[in-house]
Amino acid sequence: MSVLVFAESPEGKFKKIAFEAVSYGKKIASQLKTQLVVLTINAENASEVATYGADKILKVNNGDLANFNAIKTVSIIQQAAQKENAEVVIIDSSSNGLYLAPIISAKLEAGFASNVIEEPSSTVPFIVKRKAFSNKAFIHTEIPTAIKVLGLAKNSVGVLENSTSVNEEVFSPEIIASGVTSVSTNKSSGKISIADADIVVSGGRGLKGPENWGLIEELADVLGAAIACSKPVSDLGWRSHEEHVGQTGKPVAANLYIAIGISGAIQHLAGVNASKVKVVINTDPEAPFFKAAEYGIIGDAFEVVPKLIEKLKEFKAKN
Ligand code: FAD
Repeated sequence: MSVLVFAESPEGKFKKIAFEAVSYGKKIASQLKTQLVVLTINAENASEVATYGADKILKVNNGDLANFNAIKTVSIIQQAAQKENAEVVIIDSSSNGLYLAPIISAKLEAGFASNVIEEPSSTVPFIVKRKAFSNKAFIHTEIPTAIKVLGLAKNSVGVLENSTSVNEEVFSPEIIASGVTSVSTNKSSGKISIADADIVVSGGRGLKGPENWGLIEELADVLGAAIACSKPVSDLGWRSHEEHVGQTGKPVAANLYIAIGISGAIQHLAGVNASKVKVVINTDPEAPFFKAAEYGIIGDAFEVVPKLIEKLKEFKAKN
């Protein structure tokens, strides 16, 4: 028996979300008193996952898998799960992970729970806590099947170092034929993506126009943050739709979300309230965002943000 985590490594490199999945897998493996097996595909440095608790690493290296192919990846995870007699299979919530997890559960005839945020409250019966309704509610779900597939919500358990002695094994599964493959990926360069960012700086209609976005860009630059915006900002064409966050935009589960000149409408909050710490800067003390935020500054963005940038630069220069 084992716990299996698929640690995705787009372009050969793990993202934080993969280490979080491994950290979570370690917690469950400890609960079940079994070993944690981590499957990697074309990872440049597969051994990195040992830092987060992998007891065994199954390394697949195959040029045919250079571009993401869901059906091939599912088949490899299925073969790894069967080889390692996995009782629990953990997949992260990257866009590929969200795609893979339900297909894997169907292939393994396993029960599936998405959006899981904690280790099981009980393993017999197997009960996990999940977030639901745009993070407004929690569901405790029992999975009665012998094999369980868990989709781990981003930023729910964090990355936990837990080095153990690791056994690395080259794994050569059968690579099945599949007609559907991503042939290339065009990524916006030089920008931190909202999905990967620890910090997101987001602007709303309170910034008055696209000509004022230098303020947001400078703050994001100092903090090493991604840039986001409210829906009207992208509808007005001030910023690209790629930056629109909220219920109808991208979800944000950052460690720090700074909302500047954003009122905090329910549809906006629905997409950002999974963030750990939310800070709002708004002239209107009655803006709904103040009720949802951990910290708030009542003030004019055009006065507050330059001061914030100045102080952050001073702090960075000293530290
Ligand atoms: P406003 O509501 O105009 O708020 C601007 C804020 O800026 C105000 O609170 C004001 O006090 C403040 N302000 C003004 N000047 C300054 C200043 N100088 N300094 C600091 N603060 C200042 N919205 C989303 O964002 N994401 C979504 O995914 C989304 N989906 C939607 C789906 C549906 C079906 C619907 C109906 C709406 C959706 N909306 C969404 C729109 C949402 O209801 C709000 O209209 C929108 O979020 C408001 O954007 P805003 O806060 O930037 O603008």
